[in-house]
Amino acid sequence: MIIIYSLITILAFSVFSILILNNYKTTQIRNNEIRLFQTANIVAEVYKKNIDDIIFARMMVRSYGKQANSRILVLNSNQKVLIDNYHSYINDTINNQEIKSSLTGKSKSTLYDLKNKEVLQLSVPITLNEAGETRIIGAVLISADMNLINRNVKSLKNDMFKIACSALIITLLLTIVVTNNLTKPLRDLTYGVEKISSGDLGYSIKRKAKGEVGKLINTFNNMSNTLNKVEKNRKNFINNISHELKTPLTSIKVLIESLTMADNNIKTYKEYLKDIYNETDRMEKLVNYLMTSIKLEDIVLDMNEEDLNEILDDTVKLITPYAKKNDVSITLVNTENINVRCDKDRIKEVLFNLIDNAIKYRDDKKANNYISITLKKYQNKAIIAIEDNGIGIDEKNLEDIFKRNFRVLEGPTQSQNKIKGYGIGLTVVKNIIEKHNWKIRVESSLERGSIFTISVPL
Ligand code: ADP
Repeated sequence: MIIIYSLITILAFSVFSILILNNYKTTQIRNNEIRLFQTANIVAEVYKKNIDDIIFARMMVRSYGKQANSRILVLNSNQKVLIDNYHSYINDTINNQEIKSSLTGKSKSTLYDLKNKEVLQLSVPITLNEAGETRIIGAVLISADMNLINRNVKSLKNDMFKIACSALIITLLLTIVVTNNLTKPLRDLTYGVEKISSGDLGYSIKRKAKGEVGKLINTFNNMSNTLNKVEKNRKNFINNISHELKTPLTSIKVLIESLTMADNNIKTYKEYLKDIYNETDRMEKLVNYLMTSIKLEDIVLDMNEEDLNEILDDTVKLITPYAKKNDVSITLVNTENINVRCDKDRIKEVLFNLIDNAIKYRDDKKANNYISITLKKYQNKAIIAIEDNGIGIDEKNLEDIFKRNFRVLEGPTQSQNKIKGYGIGLTVVKNIIEKHNWKIRVESSLERGSIFTISVPL
């Protein structure tokens, strides 16, 4: 990445430098050309005025040549050199394109690229006005070495090269610092993902970052936290279940051992077998819970047109003996028959679970424990409310009670809880309700009781 940035910087700077240097050189040559044309015109004027005093004219040309740092020749109309500030071409005939052009009245300049130097050669005509007529009497030719400009360009090139190198180093350093800062949170994230995949659930990234990366870090931390909670719940669940299974298994083992050790009468056998039956019954219930828990997501509904009143009646009838046994009274207020499409058995399971909880979490300190169940139409909905005056649920736990394996009354071990449960009932309830596209909510306060409300769109 850094190499690509550097290459782009070098390329951009090179193109920029080439453009600047070319522009600089062209402007300098153009300025020189203008200056030399001015000198050539002045020399032409001086020659014209001193045509009879060739010695003075030569002196003047030498002085202008020195000033302009160039060779100046003055030629007559036959292309013969009359004045040369370097003296070597006097009386020679020169026939180049600049002179030829000047002698036809047109000034001309050409830049010659010789072996190791560039020469700008230009020529202007010397004209004389006589009796209203203009006559070309010769030409001024100036040759100037452009090496000074090339030297300037070279030194500019060196300066630019130095600037380019410094800029490149600074850019590289800045790129390294910025890239490092940008990629740091991403490297932290990679490290975090590696940690999670190696089993360190709950690992959280401490670094704060802004923008999308910051959001990603927050999401990662939340995910890690949730995974950790799920894992803890899973361990807790397995721990509880193992404990629950171990107790009846140990009892059964002890009962069978005692039966085989002594000669018992039939009455003792019957009693022991009854105990063994109760223990296996407990185990069966537990295994059923486990299976429900595992199969929660796979619930398939058998939907039919059903009477909600009838479903409520059936459920209440089924659970009343258990409620009576625990001194809890159930009242059912159902004003009208409401038909809805639902899976009858699943809805019975929901109602059974909710009423079972209302009995299970009754408040033994209260004289009268009651459950009031109502079914009524409200706007375009059917509302089923199951209200109890049990122990209630602390507000801080309300939003968690529908989560799998969540129990408010969790003790360090399951056996330390007097009310048995696996924290699955309400998860099953919510799952079935949501599969029907119905809604369930709970209101509760500690020691006062709870109301579970199911709303059914009609
Ligand atoms: P379980 O009853 O097996 O623990 P549930 O999923 O049925 O599991 O209930 C989750 C938790 O919600 C229970 O542990 C209990 O603390 C609380 N709860 C549910 N229903 C009631 C209720 N009617 N009154 C008080 N607490 C309740």
